[in-house]
Amino acid sequence: MEILKKGEVSFLVSKKLKGVKHGFSMRHGGVSKGDFNALNVGLRRGDNPFDAMRNIEICLDVLKMNKENITLTYQLHTDNVRFLEGEDIGKGFIREWGEGVDAVVTDMPQVPVMCYSADCVPTLLYDGKRKMAGAVHGGWRGTKENIAAKTVEMMKSKGCDAKNIVALIGPAIGMCCYEVSLDVGECFERDYPEMVKRMPNDKYMIDLKGITKAQLINAGLCDENIDNCMICTACENESFFSHRRQKGRSGLLGGFIQLD
Ligand SMILES: [Zn+2]
Repeated sequence: MEILKKGEVSFLVSKKLKGVKHGFSMRHGGVSKGDFNALNVGLRRGDNPFDAMRNIEICLDVLKMNKENITLTYQLHTDNVRFLEGEDIGKGFIREWGEGVDAVVTDMPQVPVMCYSADCVPTLLYDGKRKMAGAVHGGWRGTKENIAAKTVEMMKSKGCDAKNIVALIGPAIGMCCYEVSLDVGECFERDYPEMVKRMPNDKYMIDLKGITKAQLINAGLCDENIDNCMICTACENESFFSHRRQKGRSGLLGGFIQLD
């Protein structure tokens, strides 16, 4: 992935989605202060929600997306995937979902969708043939429930061919910094032995991005259609929010995509 910069505002974008409006936001260029400095897009993290809403608008302006229709996930570590209907436009932002929705998919043009994270894995999906886009949040719970693959299944059920789907796995905590307890590590050890490492202290280091990629390939995506961002949010806390590095007091980064 490469950096798209306008003023102080920066996004990670992928060559695999050239011509498609998309990006993962970085930290700088927003209006939030303190722990949320500066481009926090999290509406429920303790930041002033109006600042967070303003930051989302700043992102949409830079990405040239339609601000009227921005629709967000409502992330509660579920494996709920929603295919957007017209009545869903604006949910997660100016209207409530009413339940956890950790992944959204749409075939509506001019409807930007966004997921958010700070260490968890944000994944953007796009099928240029069927014209469909999705945004997925996967922490360890959602990843254990295979949420990225479930989102691909939703896209397939609406007419996508997995072979045409491009996936961008965004900035998230890396195996270098993501220590989890024994019971969490054991959830992944059997199915993804190369993505987990048991430590002498009975903790595990796990590679959530690698596991997400493996799940997408199991769901039928081609290896060459997956762009896995190698950035660790904890190692690169200067440029990315990290829940762990900032001891829970961090803003959130957004993953945005819109069909034209
Ligand atoms: Zn790291």
